[in-house]
Amino acid sequence: MDVSAQYDVIVVGGGPAGSTVSTLVRKRGHRVLQLEKETFPRYQIGESLLPATVHGIAHLLDVSDELKRASFTIKHGGTFKWGANPEPWTFDFAVSRRMPGATGYAYQVERMKFDKILLDNARKHGVEVREKSDVLDVLKAEGGRVRGVRYRDAEGREHEVSARFVVDASGNTGGLYKKSGSKREYSPFFRNLALFGYFNGGKRLPKPNSGNIFTCAFEHGWFWYIPLTPDLTSVGAVVNRDSASLVQGDPEKAMESFIAACPLIAEKLSEATRVTEGPYGELRVRKDWSYSNTKFWAPGMALIGDAACFVDPVFSSGVHLATYSGLLAARSLNSCLDGTVDETTAFEEFEARYRLEYSRFYEFLVGFYDMHHSEDSYFWQARKISNTADSDLESFVELIGGVSSDEFADAARARQRFSEASDEMAGMTHTAADDADGPHGAVPGKVVGRLMEQGAALQARALLGDEAGAERPVRRGGLAASTDGLGWVPHARS
Ligand SMILES: Cc1cc2nc3c(=O)[nH]c(=O)nc-3n(C[C@H](O)[C@H](O)[C@H](O)COP(=O)(O)OP(=O)(O)OC[C@H]3O[C@@H](n4cnc5c(N)ncnc54)[C@H](O)[C@@H]3O)c2cc1C
Repeated sequence: MDVSAQYDVIVVGGGPAGSTVSTLVRKRGHRVLQLEKETFPRYQIGESLLPATVHGIAHLLDVSDELKRASFTIKHGGTFKWGANPEPWTFDFAVSRRMPGATGYAYQVERMKFDKILLDNARKHGVEVREKSDVLDVLKAEGGRVRGVRYRDAEGREHEVSARFVVDASGNTGGLYKKSGSKREYSPFFRNLALFGYFNGGKRLPKPNSGNIFTCAFEHGWFWYIPLTPDLTSVGAVVNRDSASLVQGDPEKAMESFIAACPLIAEKLSEATRVTEGPYGELRVRKDWSYSNTKFWAPGMALIGDAACFVDPVFSSGVHLATYSGLLAARSLNSCLDGTVDETTAFEEFEARYRLEYSRFYEFLVGFYDMHHSEDSYFWQARKISNTADSDLESFVELIGGVSSDEFADAARARQRFSEASDEMAGMTHTAADDADGPHGAVPGKVVGRLMEQGAALQARALLGDEAGAERPVRRGGLAASTDGLGWVPHARS
């Protein structure tokens, strides 16, 4: 490691992943340079957030109040027309009675505003942020260790800067990740594409679900319908690659035909007009977005957010995975820079936790899509065989979750120790699911609750700080988060 480097950490990218890691490393007093090729605000998709980001990460970033002031739409949960149930069903993040309103919601955000808030917040914390700075290459020392980057500034001048670590948070475009020796593996399962645009005057779901994301399956795939402001709605169709020629040939016509094929979305948009000017004026297409890299780190370099992996957006997991991986990377960087944990141990912990969270979403989504396609899908069969929803869930989670029972046991114990408040947060979606109308509502709601255990623990830590106590490792022999949540500590019993 080059201790004479100009910076401790260079972060490539000013999205949620980059701004999370840069701020949390800076909070431990390290020298951080963050390079972003665009000038903010810039457009980005990924507008429906999860509570773990809004409460857990945002709190660690000291940005919760600013997000509140931004008046983003409050999202209490999700409303789905999905699976065999002909009626839409809803799950709520639910409100804790002990901390009313504190953690039982997320936001629907205009990413131009949200990402700028996070990037400005990084600046406020002392991160040196340079926009219009396009990173062209990752530089290596003899022996292969990453030692810095080369970038081009607004005037077209090229610079080399050195650092003890480089974090690639440059999103899903570009190939900087290859410098880590990592390969990108695309999911054979989620080979869809999305066509999306914006509408003024779209109808809202009835209260209290008016801020929810509405996800509506139809014959070609599914729609998202995200209320961004009282007037503005983000609408996207995620369709099979078979529709690629239609979408790419004439996106306007394709959008019209998809809407016409989905009566619930057509009804919501019956009095709406599509935005045709400004940053929301074009119909955009994205494809092949589900992938995972073979490695998430190499000596001197870590990959986070979409630069490392991404999975189909049906459960709005992208920004959560981006900010969560930013937190995990920050813990590893801080521990290495502070000299408390060696690089291999610290980054193996980062990668193990990141992969665990990613695989939970990935595996769950595989089951979720099966439920959509066929009543006698794997998940649905499990439900028919079992007498109680809980038993169904346990078998479903074990079979498709890819999570060992040990890890669940750990998560359960961790929840207990995170005090009663934490318990309530972890159970948020469970409570809501119990209220949901019918089996289709109850089952996914509870599974989402499982998925969000890490998020709930994160929220507890953010809200309770040191009172949350030391965390247990999530795997045998692994590290635990330090009490401030910004580093790793060896676990006494591991
Ligand atoms: C169709 C679709 C729908 C989605 N819906 C949701 C949703 O509802 N909720 C959700 O949470 N997520 C959603 N996502 C995912 C979400 O968009 C991403 O997961 C998220 O934006 C990742 O954040 P990031 O910080 O990793 O990358 P980004 O947000 O892409 O930020 C990367 C930044 O790096 C900059 N950059 C790139 N290359 C360079 C370079 N060479 N030098 C300097 N800077 C560089 C870019 O300009 C950019 O600002 C969706 C994704 C898709 C495709």
